[in-house]
Amino acid sequence: MKSKKRTFLVIGIFSFVAVFTGCVTEPSALTGESKSYGYTWQQELELGKKSDRELIQEMGLYPDDALARYVTEIGERVLAQSSLRQPDTPEIYRNLEFTFRVMDSPVVNAFALPGGYVYVTRGLLAHLNNEAQLAVVLGHEITHVAARHASQRALKQQWGQIGLVAGAVIGQTVTGNQNFADQFLGLGGSVFQMISLKYGRDAERESDIYGVEYSAKAGYSVGESAAFFNSLGRISGKSGQRLPTWQSSHPDPGERQSRILQLAAEMKTKYGETKVGEAEYLRRIDGLVLGENPRKGVSLRGKFYHPDMNFEFNVPEGWRAKNEASRVTLADSQGRGIVIFGIGQGNTPEEAARSFVAVAQLQPRRAESTRIGRFDGYVVEGSVDTSSGPVILKNEFFKYDGTVFSFLSYASAADVERYWPVFARISGSFGPIGDKSIRDLQPARLVVRNVDRDGVFKSYLTDDLPYGLDALDLAIINQVELDQSLGKGRALKLVAN
Ligand SMILES: [Zn+2]
Repeated sequence: MKSKKRTFLVIGIFSFVAVFTGCVTEPSALTGESKSYGYTWQQELELGKKSDRELIQEMGLYPDDALARYVTEIGERVLAQSSLRQPDTPEIYRNLEFTFRVMDSPVVNAFALPGGYVYVTRGLLAHLNNEAQLAVVLGHEITHVAARHASQRALKQQWGQIGLVAGAVIGQTVTGNQNFADQFLGLGGSVFQMISLKYGRDAERESDIYGVEYSAKAGYSVGESAAFFNSLGRISGKSGQRLPTWQSSHPDPGERQSRILQLAAEMKTKYGETKVGEAEYLRRIDGLVLGENPRKGVSLRGKFYHPDMNFEFNVPEGWRAKNEASRVTLADSQGRGIVIFGIGQGNTPEEAARSFVAVAQLQPRRAESTRIGRFDGYVVEGSVDTSSGPVILKNEFFKYDGTVFSFLSYASAADVERYWPVFARISGSFGPIGDKSIRDLQPARLVVRNVDRDGVFKSYLTDDLPYGLDALDLAIINQVELDQSLGKGRALKLVAN
């Protein structure tokens, strides 16, 4: 029998496609001269706005307005000195409003979207020691926007290959060697592709150079940022694995560090005395959430818990759970049985089920009201032909605490009998968190202290560091070595217990 490939609609929020015009010529914000871009400025503005919304939904904003205002204040200060705010800046750029955001992620990262959106994660903020370092990071990202690096990149790539820049691919074909879940649900969606877009080394160098200059003009001691680039090298050395964009798509941290120091020396001659802003900065990040936040979901002893939303469900032995802002994906060790827990689109289980069926273009062989564990719900089942063979799926919808949730489970037709009872045990176990100590779990928080004696860094650490953080992590966060001697009065970022 011939296998029939079919096209799915990617579910949910990715619905924007910019029209790729091929090539447009517009003045450069950096030089004023005509330059070619893959998108018009107007398209970039729309792209940024849409993608910003997706990003907030996917990653979540860090809930601290005062901190967001502070980052915006520093960003605006740097922006005011940038090529976008000069008297001779082409008019299409001069009035561009910027949005600076702090994202609720422990990953050390900063990124920009076209049209004036700049993001830093709380993980990155924890790793900075002062305002000057923050200014340089923001200046770098402002330059990506001003230089329209994403748009330049789009020009160089064949449209369609780039995966991203449109912000979204509406229809995707499920093929044998691509991850079904990714395709089916738009996991690892376009906005993530977009923020991990590699602009290329020249673009990164340009962003470093302009970012440093803007920050120096704004009055900052830009040489401070060299220590942060050193931290980036230490983080990748330690993790040795998947690197966040700020590291992986950027030039070698060692090379950047020496370039920054060289630039900093030039800037000092050019702009004179400069500001570090350590005390102000540390005051602003005092109390910042550090590492993974268990209140947003945590796997412990065979269960997944979400204390903020007060629910739990079973994670079978040998299965892994991947927690993201809008979904939890469970997979067995071979990745043959998959369960995706998420939020349904609709006010009732049935409405959400119908919306799923429509968007997924599913022809259900079963669609009816049913019990799902302790809840009344609605289930749809069907089969989907993929180039790697038929896949059987079921999606169970139910309402809990005012929200419609769903468990989408699937396996290949050959495996499905084995997995079906496991799927039922997972969705059937959903309920409020029984264990009060888990309901009350709190994240680790950074606390700024001035040390009361001379000593080496590690002597200030307690033994009971929170899960997932070790002594070396804290040394990197503080931009010191474990055995480095520190004098009395030195400010350190430690962990509140
Ligand atoms: Zn960059």
